[in-house]
Amino acid sequence: MNLSYDLHTHSHCSDGKLSPAELVSLAKLNNVDVLALTDHDTIAGIPAAIAAAGDALTIIPGIEVSTLWQGRGIHIVGLQIDIHSDELQQAVSQQEEIRFKRAKTIAVRLEKAGIKGAWEGALSYAQGGAIGRPHFAQHIIDVGYAANFAQAFKRYLGAGKIGDVKSEWPSITSAVSWINAAGGIATLAHPDKYGLTRTKLYALLQDFADAGGRSIEVVSGNQNADVTKKLQKAAADFSLLASCGSDFHSPDNKWQSPGVMSPLPKNCQAIWDFW
Ligand code: AMP
Ligand code: MN
Ligand code: MN
Ligand code: MN
Repeated sequence: MNLSYDLHTHSHCSDGKLSPAELVSLAKLNNVDVLALTDHDTIAGIPAAIAAAGDALTIIPGIEVSTLWQGRGIHIVGLQIDIHSDELQQAVSQQEEIRFKRAKTIAVRLEKAGIKGAWEGALSYAQGGAIGRPHFAQHIIDVGYAANFAQAFKRYLGAGKIGDVKSEWPSITSAVSWINAAGGIATLAHPDKYGLTRTKLYALLQDFADAGGRSIEVVSGNQNADVTKKLQKAAADFSLLASCGSDFHSPDNKWQSPGVMSPLPKNCQAIWDFW
């Protein structure tokens, strides 16, 4: 039997809209068999997801670690991690601190740009979870400085804009070593979302593989077939396993839903064959 896998999703423990239990319910509704919860820099939602899943579906404990590579923000997903690993827990605390500090800097910059109450606004949306740019985006929309998320990122939070503060994230090498120390498989998230040339993407994959990274998302959400083909080739060129995930954040986005994506190409080495 072919199982349905979604190995990249978010809950309100980071910038997702649903609680872990609500996410699990929606995944069940969508007939997902194996679901990884991969919140940004936190594992706080994993126990609740496991509890909500019961026997109905399998939860893969995961995380999406923010890193910096050659001045760019790169995301490394850890799958099948031991959430009790000391090294991982220490890393998560460190990331939490970086996120909090970074959020303060973002708030100061946005205030300077005239966006009042940025700190309080973002903090209230984060609800004690891992605070990030989407929480600021929500506030920017509230105060009328953008009509929607896309506009908030285009004007204030996206690459090169005032709210794009990323200087303190750890290296790919660190992120991969934390994931490996927790017995997980490090997976390069949404490789096509970084706007890299082929040469740059291959340089990134080389560094990632050298660091001990073992897998890439050959399928990320609703991706064009030519992109999938390119990433399948990249996986083969570096002998990396293939993962797939929707990167689901919110039911408000009709193009992203748990389990909804094209299947992995047949000639891939699926990550789940190596668990
Ligand atoms: P952060 O973790 O604080 O760096 O924020 C990154 C998150 O912002 C990503 O995981 C996405 O959920 C979201 N994001 C990034 N770019 C955009 C965009 N252009 N429009 C909407 N959301 C975005
Ligand atoms: Mn996100
Ligand atoms: Mn990401
Ligand atoms: Mn994600």
